[in-house]
Amino acid sequence: MSDTIFSRIIRGEIPCHRVYEDAHMLAFMDINPIARGHTLVIPKQPAPTLDALSDDAAAAVGRVLPRLCRAVIQATGARSYNILQNNGAAAHQAVFHVHFHIIPRYAGDGPGSGLGIVWPATRPEAGEIAELAMQIAAAI
Ligand code: AMP
Repeated sequence: MSDTIFSRIIRGEIPCHRVYEDAHMLAFMDINPIARGHTLVIPKQPAPTLDALSDDAAAAVGRVLPRLCRAVIQATGARSYNILQNNGAAAHQAVFHVHFHIIPRYAGDGPGSGLGIVWPATRPEAGEIAELAMQIAAAI
């Protein structure tokens, strides 16, 4: 299990702008927001990536994440938002403690402001998709 800057925030060793806390979860403002109201939601379990999270911690995420989204929407006035959850260096993860970004989106967000998304959709053979579906289903 990882000991990261987020574990230190959970233990109160370094400060944060806290917006929510319970026995299993903490939410606080991102220190370098990419949009106004950018908020981080973290389980207290020090799992580095989502696949390592326990079922109990995952349930705690599910219980509070929609409520925190509602609060961010209400406080910022944003009508749209993205949930971003990075796992692994190749996926742009910098802090190896599971976290969900709530990133409000505003009219006028464009290149150079807010979250940029590149979505390079492809058209694989149907057989290839079916094969992967079977492999993933078998791995559950
Ligand atoms: P990620 O690339 O998904 O690992 O994102 C890590 C996020 O943590 C970044 O958006 C950082 O700005 C944020 N962050 C890092 N250190 C702190 C801190 N001490 N307080 C609040 N947010 C932080």
